[in-house]
Amino acid sequence: MSRARLILLNAALGPLDYRVPPSMAVAPGSIVVAPLGPRQLVGVVWEPERLPAQEIGDNRLRPLVHAYDLPPLGAPLRRLIEWTADYYLSPLGAVLRMALPSSGALDGARAITEYRATGHVPERLTPQRAQALERIGERLGLIRELAIVGGVSDGVIRGLVKAGAIEAVEIAIDDPFPAPDPDHGPPALEPAQARAAAELRAAVEAGNFAPWLLDGVTGSGKTEVYFEAIAQAVRQGRQALVLLPEIALTEPFLKRFAARFGCDPVPWHSGLRQSQRRRAWRAIAGGEARVVVGARSALFLPYPNLGLIVVDEAHEASFKQEEGVPYHARDVAVMRAHFEKVPIVLASATPAIETRHMVEIGTYRELKLPDRYGGARLPDMAALDMLQDPPPRGRWLAPELVRALEANLAAGEQSLLFLNRRGYAPLTLCRHCGYRFQCPNCTAWMVEHRFTRRLACHHCGHVMPAPNACPECKEEDSLVACGPGVERIADEVRDVLPDARTIIVTSDTIWSPAKAAEFVARMEAGEIDVVIGTQLVTKGYHFPNLTLVGVVDADLGLAGGDLRAAERSFQQIRQVSGRAGRGGKGGRVLVQTHDPSARVIQALVGGDAEGFYAAETDARREAAMPPFGRLAAIIVSSEDQAEAIETARRIGRAAPRVEHMAVFGPAPAPLAMLRGRHRLRLLVHAARAVPVQDIIRVWLGALSWKSSVRVSVDVDPYSFL
Ligand code: ADP
Ligand code: ZN
Repeated sequence: MSRARLILLNAALGPLDYRVPPSMAVAPGSIVVAPLGPRQLVGVVWEPERLPAQEIGDNRLRPLVHAYDLPPLGAPLRRLIEWTADYYLSPLGAVLRMALPSSGALDGARAITEYRATGHVPERLTPQRAQALERIGERLGLIRELAIVGGVSDGVIRGLVKAGAIEAVEIAIDDPFPAPDPDHGPPALEPAQARAAAELRAAVEAGNFAPWLLDGVTGSGKTEVYFEAIAQAVRQGRQALVLLPEIALTEPFLKRFAARFGCDPVPWHSGLRQSQRRRAWRAIAGGEARVVVGARSALFLPYPNLGLIVVDEAHEASFKQEEGVPYHARDVAVMRAHFEKVPIVLASATPAIETRHMVEIGTYRELKLPDRYGGARLPDMAALDMLQDPPPRGRWLAPELVRALEANLAAGEQSLLFLNRRGYAPLTLCRHCGYRFQCPNCTAWMVEHRFTRRLACHHCGHVMPAPNACPECKEEDSLVACGPGVERIADEVRDVLPDARTIIVTSDTIWSPAKAAEFVARMEAGEIDVVIGTQLVTKGYHFPNLTLVGVVDADLGLAGGDLRAAERSFQQIRQVSGRAGRGGKGGRVLVQTHDPSARVIQALVGGDAEGFYAAETDARREAAMPPFGRLAAIIVSSEDQAEAIETARRIGRAAPRVEHMAVFGPAPAPLAMLRGRHRLRLLVHAARAVPVQDIIRVWLGALSWKSSVRVSVDVDPYSFL
C-alpha cells in the first residue's frame, strides 16, 4: 500500500499522511488534492524522511482525491521552501503558497471568461455605471476585477452585462509566449562591460552556484551586461529570472528587453489579471516561459529549468517583505541560486553593506563598471545650506535651487525634485487650539492629500474628508498644513515657475505599469519640465534630457535613528542623483540640508562613497550589528493593550540566557499602535554564531497566549516600525 506525506496549502496545518489510490502515481513534488474534514485542499507531496509527522496507521489514512497533470515541484525548490520556513520561522504551508499562488492555474482550463466594455451606452446611465465604464475603459478582467477598477460593486458590473454595455469574452490561457532571441539586437559593449559580460556568460555556461555583485555607477550600463548573461541562459535552453524592486519599473524594463531580445519577457507581479497570472504560471511551471521579470513574489515560482537569477537594484529595501512570511527576496534569491546550482547577479550602483561584506570576505565575486556608458559624466553635486540661504517663509525651495530650475527651464531641459513624502503636508493642526489630526488606528499623523481633499493615514489607509473646522474647538478655517509633501512642492513650483509643466510621481499617481508607461512616454516626448517625486523616481528611469535634480530635504531619512538610516539616505540620494545627466549634456544635483557637515552629505558631495561605506561598516562592526551580528524582532500585538503588555512581558521573562545573545524590551514599538492593534517589541541581538532561530523556536514554543494576541518574529528586520 502506498502512502504519501503532504504539505497542504494551509499555514495552520503540519505535514499530513494520505493513501495514494492504485490508479494514481505521485512522487515528491507532485501537486495533488487531498480531503481535510469536509473540505478539499491543494497540497504537495514531500519526502517523508524530511518531514517528521505523527505516524498514522494505514487503515486510518484517507485517499488522495486527485493528482494534477503538472510537472512536480523540483527538489531545489522544495529545499528552498524548507530553508525559508526554517530561517524565517514560518509555516511550510505559508511558504509553499508562494510557489502556488494561483489555484486557478492548476486546473488547466484552456480558456477563462473575462469581460470588457462594448462601447454601447446603457439606457439607464446611473452615476455609478458612468463611473465604472469610464474607469474600465478598454480593460479586460473578471467581474470582480472590473468592479475593483471601476470602484463599484460586482452587482453594478453584472447589471452592465445585462444592459449590453459589458460583454463576456473567452480568453485563451494556454497561448504560448514568444521565445526571446538571444541574437536579436546585441549591443556593442564598452570594454569594461564586455569584460563583465564575458565573466557572467562563462558562469552561466558553467552552470554552478556563483554569486556575483555587479557594482556599476548609475548609467554605467549594468542592464546591458546582465542581458548578455540572460542571452547565454536562453541559448542553453534554460530559464532566467529577473527580480525588480517595484512593479513600476517593469514597464521601462520590458521595452529595453524587447529591443535586445525581440519580444517581451513574461511579467509576474501583483498587477496581473487572473487570466494573465494563470497563463504565466503555467508557462513558468512548464518551462516555456524563458525569461521572467517580476517583483519579489516571482522568486518562489516553480521554474523547472532555471539557469540564472538577476536581482536588479539589489540594495532596495522593498525586497524585504513585511507581511505574511517576512523574508528578504535578495537573500532568498541567493539561496535559490544555491539550491538550483546556478549563478546569481546582484546589480546595484549602491550595494548594501551586507552585500559588500560578502565580497570582502570572498563569498561573492565583484564586477565593477566605474564609468557611465558613452562617456556621460556623473553629475556635479553641491549642498545647499538651508540655514545660510533659506527659502522665504512658508516655502521649501532655496533661492539657488529656484534659480537653477529657472535656468533649466529656459534651456529646455528637464528637472526632478525629490522628496520622499506623499501628499500635501505630513501634519495638519489647528492654529487656534493646537489640535493635531491623528489616525484613530495608528500612532501616526494624518497626511493631507489636497488633490483628493482628504486626510489619509499612510500606515493603515484610514481616510477622512479634509474638514473645514477644527473638530476640537470648532473654529472654522483654522487648520494649517505643517511641512511639505510632494503636492505642496508642486504648488510651489507652479508659483515660482508658472510656465513649467509639472507632474507628481508617487504611488498615488503611478499605481500601475500602464501609468508608469504613460509617465515615461510623456517625459520622452518632452511634455514635462519638472517632475516632483518620491522614491518611486529614484531608480531605473533613463531620461537623457533630465539634467537637474533637487533633493528637497536630505535630512529627512536621517531622523529616527534606524540602523540603516545613513546608508539608506546615501543610497537614495545617490540613486536619485543618478537620474541627472544621463544623456550627453551633463547634470547637476543640488542637495538641500540643514547640516552640510553631516557625514552622509559630505560623502555625497565629495564623491567619497568608499570613505562613507568604510566608516559605516566600522560602526556596524564595533556594535556587532548586521552583517557582523544578528538581529531578530519579536512583535507582540493585540487590540487589547493590557493583554499585549502582559504577553510581551511574559515572553521577556522567559527569555533564555545564552552566551553572546541579549534580549531588549519589551518596549512599545515605534508605531505603538498600528491598524487598531497595540504593539510591543522585543529585540534579540546575538553574535553571528548563535543559532537564533532555534533558540526562538524553543523559547516561544514553550509559551502560549490567547488567540487574540499575535506574536510574530521578524528575522533580519529592516523596518524598525
Ligand atoms: P544602469 O542600469 O547601470 O544605471 P543602464 O543599463 O540603464 O545603466 O544604461 C544607461 C544607458 O546607456 C541606457 O540608455 C542604455 O541603453 C545605454 N547603454 C548602456 N550600455 C550600452 C551599450 N553597450 N550600447 C548602447 N547603449 C548602451
Ligand atoms: Zn492608521
